Amino acid sequence: MMSKDLKQPIYLFSIDLEDIRDMVPNGHLLEERVPTNTYKYLEFLKKQQAYITFFVVGDVARNYPELIQHIQHEGHEIACHSDKHLPLDQLNQDQFKRDLEANITALVKAGASNIRGYRAPMFSLTEKNAWAYQYLAEAGITYSSSVLPADNFQFGWAKFGEQPQMVAGVLELPMSILNTRYLQYPFGGGAYFRVLPMYLIQQAFKRKFRQGEPVLGYFHPYDIDTHQKGIRFPYIKSQFYNYLMYYNRKNMWKRLAKITKLGGVMMPYQQYIEQYLAANEL
Ligand SMILES: [Zn+2]
Repeated sequence: MMSKDLKQPIYLFSIDLEDIRDMVPNGHLLEERVPTNTYKYLEFLKKQQAYITFFVVGDVARNYPELIQHIQHEGHEIACHSDKHLPLDQLNQDQFKRDLEANITALVKAGASNIRGYRAPMFSLTEKNAWAYQYLAEAGITYSSSVLPADNFQFGWAKFGEQPQMVAGVLELPMSILNTRYLQYPFGGGAYFRVLPMYLIQQAFKRKFRQGEPVLGYFHPYDIDTHQKGIRFPYIKSQFYNYLMYYNRKNMWKRLAKITKLGGVMMPYQQYIEQYLAANEL
């Protein structure tokens, strides 16, 4: 039965729950947008009768404990997305360990339970900071979705490969990429999902589904926010890339509707990991 389940097309849709206001100077002078956008995603998921994973930043859990409880109460999984949303290349091992502990404490305090997953901010887990897996395992984390298996990005780890791998007792599910001859691109979530031609995205989903592989998708509160005033995103130096952070937000729901029609089943990452481990000897 397990292997049959794995043959269903699977869309590992997820939300990276972060508040851009926590990351920019005087950010909290800007309008509060996270609850409104999160409720829109929850409504969408309810219509799909889908349960997914929310990777939550510690700051968000501290500021919105009721929201975290509500998400969990709706049947979704809560997982870690760091405490301060700093890319891992800005942290040493000790700082990483403390950031992770603070993230878990904030989630538990907000009412989350059964926390098993982790996603590095900006998919910044690379070969250089692979020591992170050991700290994840020590903190009770059993899976991670933190690697971008390509080299043409600010953060990436091409040698990791596109398949899940067990590292120091943690199962890493690398981000799905569109592998062309010259470049690799994510396509299942975030800015790429908004910016790439829809035809390319649909083809990439179909190919993955045919291969019996899941597509990982990640979305942020801001990806659907057509109301948010123009701000400069932290760590994004290029004006063009900052522009892309806003590009095509208004068509997100239309795009998502086209993709959900392809029939990929959504489920919490934890559930997928259990199925995966039962079907594969790792
Ligand atoms: Zn993030």
